[in-house]
Amino acid sequence: ARPAELEVSGVSYAYGTDAVLHDVTFGVPAGRTVALVGPTGSGKSTLVQLLVRLVDPASGQVLLDGVDVRRLAYGALAGSVALVPQQTFLFDDTVRGNIALGLDVDDEEVWAALRVAQADAFVGRLGSGLDTRVGERGTSLSGGQRQRLALARAIVRRPRLLILDDATSSVDPQVEAKILYGLRDAASSVVVVAYRMATIALADEIVYLDRGRVVDRGGHEELLERC
Ligand code: ADP
Ligand code: ADP
Repeated sequence: ARPAELEVSGVSYAYGTDAVLHDVTFGVPAGRTVALVGPTGSGKSTLVQLLVRLVDPASGQVLLDGVDVRRLAYGALAGSVALVPQQTFLFDDTVRGNIALGLDVDDEEVWAALRVAQADAFVGRLGSGLDTRVGERGTSLSGGQRQRLALARAIVRRPRLLILDDATSSVDPQVEAKILYGLRDAASSVVVVAYRMATIALADEIVYLDRGRVVDRGGHEELLERC
């Protein structure tokens, strides 16, 4: 798979009469990582929902490789873009079952995804590899481990654009760095909604939102200088 290029162009959105995004424009070049940063209520979650078409913009466009996502069939969109939400959901199933979720993937692919998500080590440590029952191990899986399983679930689909909505908050910063670099090798463009400086520092570009507007953009060093 080849990483996708994302362009968000002049996007506005309102909940009823409450306008929450105003003419938002930014892009993610193929294979790059862009961090969305901003205070609570600045519109990050709404923007993420627009990228996966949980909602559509009132005006403006979301373009994937130059094509308006509204022109893509849902299946095609779901095949290209994966969202890892803030909240991790694990089923009462094996690690493998939680990652494959009914996909017809072989163990090799599941392991490859676990490796990119830096999750193979803890799966191995639990003793029974891919057959470890997550339901039985719920208490022994840490928040960070659960997040890494959720990441592997997205990665195994080989998304061309991966959206992480604060999905690595419980992972050690060092491990998080490995994950984000690994995603580049796995041919994904990445949008990461980020709160920790360590996460933000891993992005190629930062898009800073405030009250629904892009108020700043740049590398993290440039932004720090301007603070
Ligand atoms: P962030 O993710 O940066 O915290 P959100 O996108 O969640 O920002 O919220 C942006 C604004 O939209 C906030 O003012 C929030 O109250 C409002 N909002 C979010 N979701 C809804 C909703 N489902 N209905 C109405 N208003 C909402
Ligand atoms: P390809 O060019 O076919 O994608 P790579 O050489 O990039 O293969 O990948 C090497 C290994 O990593 C393969 O076993 C492949 O299954 C795995 N892999 C590559 N990309 C991903 C991905 N996004 N998610 C999970 N596994 C991946």
